Amino acid sequence: MTENLYEKSLIYLETFCHEISERCVGSEGNRQATRFFEKELSNLGWKTVLAEFDAVDWEENGAALRSNGKTFNVLVSPYSLGFKGEAKLVAASTTKELENLDIKDTIVLLFGEIAKEQLMPKNFVFYNPDEHQKIIGLLEKGQPRAIISATGRNPALAGGVYPFPLIEDGDFNIPSVYMTEEEGKELISVIGKKVFLESKSKRIPGKGYNVIATKGKKNSDRIVVTAHIDAKKGTPGAIDNATGVIVLLLLADLLKDYNGDNIIELVAFNGEDYYAVSGQMNYIKANQENFKEIILNINIDGAGFKEGPSAFSLFELPEVLQKITLEIIRQYSGITEGAHWPQGDHSIFLQYGVPAIAVSSKWFVDNINGQEITHTPKDNIEIVDCMRLIEISHALNSLIRRISGLSGR
Ligand SMILES: [Zn+2]
Repeated sequence: MTENLYEKSLIYLETFCHEISERCVGSEGNRQATRFFEKELSNLGWKTVLAEFDAVDWEENGAALRSNGKTFNVLVSPYSLGFKGEAKLVAASTTKELENLDIKDTIVLLFGEIAKEQLMPKNFVFYNPDEHQKIIGLLEKGQPRAIISATGRNPALAGGVYPFPLIEDGDFNIPSVYMTEEEGKELISVIGKKVFLESKSKRIPGKGYNVIATKGKKNSDRIVVTAHIDAKKGTPGAIDNATGVIVLLLLADLLKDYNGDNIIELVAFNGEDYYAVSGQMNYIKANQENFKEIILNINIDGAGFKEGPSAFSLFELPEVLQKITLEIIRQYSGITEGAHWPQGDHSIFLQYGVPAIAVSSKWFVDNINGQEITHTPKDNIEIVDCMRLIEISHALNSLIRRISGLSGR
C-alpha cells in the first residue's frame, strides 16, 4: 500500500507544482487545482461540494521610478492598481510623521519604522492591529496619488520575501510599489522633488472554490481535516502547501472504506496565502452556527520538508484526544510533538473553540521567524520528501479511526 501511495504522491506533487502553473486564488491554475482535487476525491467515493466565491486575480508588467535623471528599482505591490504620472515626493518614517504630513496629490515614501511589517489587508478580520488600520486610514484620508514603501526583512509576516510589499490588498485603491531599504535610502535624496512613476498592474475579476469532501453517518459530530490549496503568486508552493493537499488526498485513499461514527470532512481551503482569505471566510460563514459539531480540526501546512521530522502541534485537546494523539505520534519515528505556532488555518477553529492539531515540519515550526523559503521560488519540489507525507497520512488515518471508535489498520 505504501508503494502505491508513494507513486501517487509523486504524481500529485508533479501535478500541483509543475503541470498546474500557479495556484494563487482567482487564477485559472487555482481553479484547475480545485477541479483536480474534487475529481480525485469523488473517484475515491467521497461526497464532494464546491463552494464558490468571488476572487480577484492580478497581473503585473513591472514598474519604473525616475527623478532628476536617476532611476530607482521598484516592484509592483501585489493586487495594486496601476499608475502612470509625476508628482512631488514626500516621506514619512513613523505614523506620527504621516499624520502631520500633507500628502494630497503627492507620491509618498514610507520607510523605516512605519514600514517594518506588512500591513494587514483592510478587510482581514482574524488579526488586524489598530496601528495598521490607522496607517491605512491616514493614507486613504490623505489621498496621495501613489505610495512607495521601502521595506526590510521580516520572515515572520512576509515569508522569506525581501523586500516585502508593505501593502498587499486588492481592497485598497491607492496604487503602490515597493523597494529595498537600501534603495529607499537613495530615494531620500530626492524628497521634495518631482518623481515620475509608472506601474503596470491590473486586477482581473474571477472565481475561486473551496472543495469539501465528506464521509460518514449523517447528523453526527465532525472531524475536519484541512489544508490550503492556494499558493503565493509566483511560487510553486510545494511545502506551502501542495504537500498539505497531497496528505488530504492520501488520507482520502486510506479512509475510502471508512464507515465510522463521526463525519469525516476533508477541506481544501482556498485563500491562506491570499489577501482576502476568501475561502476561509466563506467556510466560516457557512459554518457559523455549526462549529460546535466539530470535535477536532487537523490542519496540514508546511509538511514534508526533507530535513528533520514532521511536527504535530496540539492545541487545546481534551485529555482523551491528547492521550490518543501522543500515543500515535510515538508509533512513528519521523513524527514528533511540535511547538505552538499561530500563523495557520488551525487558528480559525481555535477561535471558535474547536481543538486543533497543526501538522507541519519541525524545521519550519522552529524557524518560523528566520526561514527564507516559503513564499519564494525556493519552495519547490526539491525540498519535499514524499515518504514524510505517507507517514503523516498513516498516522492521521489511525488517529481518525481511533477517535471514531474503530480499530486502526
Ligand atoms: Zn501555508
